[in-house]
Amino acid sequence: MLITKADAQSLDRQDVFAPLRAAFEMPPSVIYLDGNSLGPLQVSTRRHVAEVVARQWGEGLIRSWNTYDWIDLPTKVAGKIERLIGAPHGTVAVCDSTSINIFKVLAAALHARPSRRVIVSERNNFPTDLHIAQGLIDLLADGYELRTVDANDLPGAIRDDTAVVLLTEVNYRTGRKLDMARMTRLAHASGALMIWDLAHSAGAFKVDLMAADADFAVGCGYKFLNGGPGAPAYVYAAPRHIQDFKQPLAGWFGHAAPFSFVDDFTPSPSIQRMQVGTPPILSLAALDSALDIFAGVDLVALRAKADRLFDIFSSIVVPECPDLELVTPRDPELRGSQIAFRFGEAYAAMQALIARDVIGDFRTPDIMRFGLTPLYLSHEDVWRAAHILVEVMRDRLWDRADYKIRAKVV
Ligand SMILES: *Cc1c(COP(=O)(O)O)cnc(C)c1O
Repeated sequence: MLITKADAQSLDRQDVFAPLRAAFEMPPSVIYLDGNSLGPLQVSTRRHVAEVVARQWGEGLIRSWNTYDWIDLPTKVAGKIERLIGAPHGTVAVCDSTSINIFKVLAAALHARPSRRVIVSERNNFPTDLHIAQGLIDLLADGYELRTVDANDLPGAIRDDTAVVLLTEVNYRTGRKLDMARMTRLAHASGALMIWDLAHSAGAFKVDLMAADADFAVGCGYKFLNGGPGAPAYVYAAPRHIQDFKQPLAGWFGHAAPFSFVDDFTPSPSIQRMQVGTPPILSLAALDSALDIFAGVDLVALRAKADRLFDIFSSIVVPECPDLELVTPRDPELRGSQIAFRFGEAYAAMQALIARDVIGDFRTPDIMRFGLTPLYLSHEDVWRAAHILVEVMRDRLWDRADYKIRAKVV
C-alpha cells in the first residue's frame, strides 16, 4: 500500500500524541530516529534540572537531602518506572548503570541456585550483558560457564544444569522481540531463574513482569525513558525474592540504616538493598522529570502508533531500496519499537542521512537502525525520513570518502 504525504498528514491530525511533541526540545530541522539510543531532552526537564542545581544544590547545600527529600528520590523515580513494567510497588530500585545492575542480579541468581553452574544467554545479546556474565564467572572461579546460543536454540540450551537465564527482550540490532512469558516458563520448568534486560522495552510498549513471572529485571534510563545521557538505570526483583536475595555490592546505601554508621553490614529488608552508594541527584532529577510525560500515556496506544510508523517507513523503503535487507520482523508481536536494515555500506549510508538531519544509528557490522518513538515523532516525520533514505540509496549519496571515516561513538 502506497502511503502519500497527505495520508501521513491526515494520520497526524487524528494523533492523540501529537500535542506531546511540543514538550521536547529538538532542532526543528532534525528528524530524530535515535530515541532508542539516547532519548531527547524535554523543556520541563531542562527547567527542573536548572532549578535543582541553582536552588537545591546552590542554596540548600547539604540540607537538601532532607528539605528536598533527595534521600527518597530513587524510590520516587522507581515508582514511576514500576508502572511502565508491570512491577508492584516496592520491587524496583533506581541506581547505578544497567551493566552494574546485571552484575548484582546475576550474582543474586547464582547464589539462589548453588548447585548449578550454567548461565544461559543469547549469542548476539548486547555485549555488556555477556561481558558482565563472563567477568562474574571469572571472579567466582568456581566452575561456572556461560552458554550462549542463537535465539531459536534457547529451549534446548536451558537444562537442569542451568542456574539462570539472562535475556534481553528486544534485540538491539534487529529489533526482534522474545516471548517473555514463554521463555520465563522454560527457565522455571528447568529449575532456573529468569533475568530480563528491558533496555529496549520499557517506555516503548507495555511490559508486564508480574504476568510473565520474571525473577529479576534490569533496564536503562536514557533510551525510551528520556532520562539523559548516562541516566541512572533500574533493577527489579520479584516480590518472592525481595526478602532474601543476596547481591554482592554491599554498600552503605543498601544498608538497613545507612546513617547509623556501623561497621557491620545489615542489608536493607527492602528492594533498597540493590543500592550501593550515594545516588546521583542531578541525574535522578532529570530522569524524575523526564518520566512525568508517561503519566498520561496509554502504552497500548503508544505502541499502536509505533506500529503505524513502522508500516509507513517499511512500505516506502522496502520496495524502493532493493539493497537494504529488512532484518526486523514484520509481525508486531515479534518486534520492539525500531526498524533495522542490513547493508554493506550501512555506516556511510547513516552518515549521509545524518548529514541530511535524519538521525538514526549504525551497529556493527552492517546494520542501520531507526528508533520509532511516538511521543515526539509525527507520521509525516517518518514519511519524510523514509523518502530521504530512498534518495540516499537511489543516488548513492553515501558513496563519499568522508562518510566512511568511523567516529569513536557510532
Ligand atoms: C543500552 C543497553 C545496555 C546499556 O548498559 P549501560 O550499563 O547503561 O551502558 C545494556 N543492555 C542492553 C540490552 C542495552 O541495549
